[in-house]
Order: sequence, then structure tokens, then C-alpha cells
Amino acid sequence: MPEGDTIFRAARTLNRALAGHEVARFESVLPALTRVHEDTPLTGRQIERVTSVGKNVLMRFSGGLTLRTHMRMNGSWHIYRPGEAWRRSRRDMRIVIATAAFEAVGFNIPVAEFLDDKGMARHPDLRRIGPDILGETFDEAEAVRRIRARAEAPVADVLLNQRVLAGIGNVYKSEVLFACRVNPFTPVHTLGDEQIGCLVTTAHRFLKANIGDVLPSMTTYTGYRRTTRRDDPSQRLWVYGRARLPCRRCGTPIRIRKQGIDARLTYWCPSCQPE
Ligand SMILES: [Zn+2]
Repeated sequence: MPEGDTIFRAARTLNRALAGHEVARFESVLPALTRVHEDTPLTGRQIERVTSVGKNVLMRFSGGLTLRTHMRMNGSWHIYRPGEAWRRSRRDMRIVIATAAFEAVGFNIPVAEFLDDKGMARHPDLRRIGPDILGETFDEAEAVRRIRARAEAPVADVLLNQRVLAGIGNVYKSEVLFACRVNPFTPVHTLGDEQIGCLVTTAHRFLKANIGDVLPSMTTYTGYRRTTRRDDPSQRLWVYGRARLPCRRCGTPIRIRKQGIDARLTYWCPSCQPE
């Protein structure tokens, strides 16, 4: 699943390309979207802004209409200049939103719906979602409170729970735990305030730091594909993707185990993060 910062960057890229411009063309193979478009056309509306909330991309149009998309594992948004060749097959296209200058194409997007303001306020996914680490006002105290409320759960699972804290994906889960020297399998209730505080501030710092890089080219940026060398896990991460390699801090081989109901991979150093 893409990390919160990846979604944030994709939303920001879409926002830079589209915000303030009028929809010239809308296309979709998803009946739930085309039905709305037939009743109240998207064409001619202004794209007001594109933001991310947790792992949702929210595209807001004039007239109080919002397109919510969720990428799950394989979805992505690309931005192209009109006429530029797509880097994915037309078969994978789910949504096209074009302005005079850009074409935003959603590939393999599994979750997409139009919402009015009432629908937004009532939406279970958006309402239940925890404080957004990359939101304009990140509520650290509320994040700590929500982590504490899952007293019996292993801390790594709690960090991934979007209702506790929105934005941490599987990579940062392991990285943040390593940075704070917390064992991933520790139940939350055995952690001290200092440790939980460390997890929250470190997650905030890591994700903020990672959204700063400049996209090489807006026209070729592919929303959820990490392609640069800098993004190669082995180049920059402490534990993620480094099973059996020596810990960068102490030299002990990094361990890996599937964890939680979704069997997500957890990486940790048994010496730096003892049980
Ligand atoms: Zn170590």
C-alpha cells in the first residue's frame, strides 16, 4: 500500500497541475461515476483543489462536488500533457479528468465515488480516520491518545491502523519503530509516554521530510511508482527491505516477520529493539 507521503505528493502534483482550471473532458469506465456525470456534468466545473486525507485523494470541484479515490495496492494517478503517450495500458484506465493543459489519468483505481458536502461529512472512511500526519493541523496529543486506546495491540499494528493515525504505511512503520528503539511486537500498554511520544514525533518528522523533494518532471511523474535511486529502500532506509543485512547502527542481522491480520512484513533489529 502506498505510504501517506506518496499519496500526499500525488495529491500535491495533481493540485499544481489542475487547481484553478476548468474540466474540459471527463471520462470513466466506472458506472458509479458516469451516472453522476450524466446528471450533473463535470465538464465546465472548476477544479478547486486536490488534497489527501490519509490514503484518500480528494479532488474538489466547484458546485460542492468531491471525487474521492483510494488507491489500495495498485491504483495510481498520472499526469500527462494532452497527446502525450500514457505509460500504462488503456485497459487499466478508470478515470480521465482533462483541462486545457493537462490530462490526469487514474489507472486501476479500485475505489472512486463522487460526494457532496453532506456525503463528505457523513463518510465513514473520512470521519473515522485518525489525525492526518501530513494534515495542515496535525494533532499530536490526539494521536498519542488514540495509540494508548489500543492498549493490548502490538505497536506495529497500531501504527498501521488508519483510524489511529492516518498516513503511516508499511515502510515507515518499521523505520519509525527502529528510530525509537521500540520492538514491533510490544503491546502498547507496556510502552512509556516517552516512547509513544517518540513514535508520533518521528513519524511526523520522517513523513514531512520525505515530501520535500522536487518532482523531476510533472509530465512524466507516475503517482505511486518509486523510481529514483534515492527511493531504493536499500539506499536510504535503516531496516525496511534489509532482512539479514547488518544493522546500520550495531551490525546485528536485521530480522523480518509477517505481522498482523494482513500479514504485513515487519523488519527490526533484535539488538537495538529488544523485546
Ligand atoms: Zn541494531
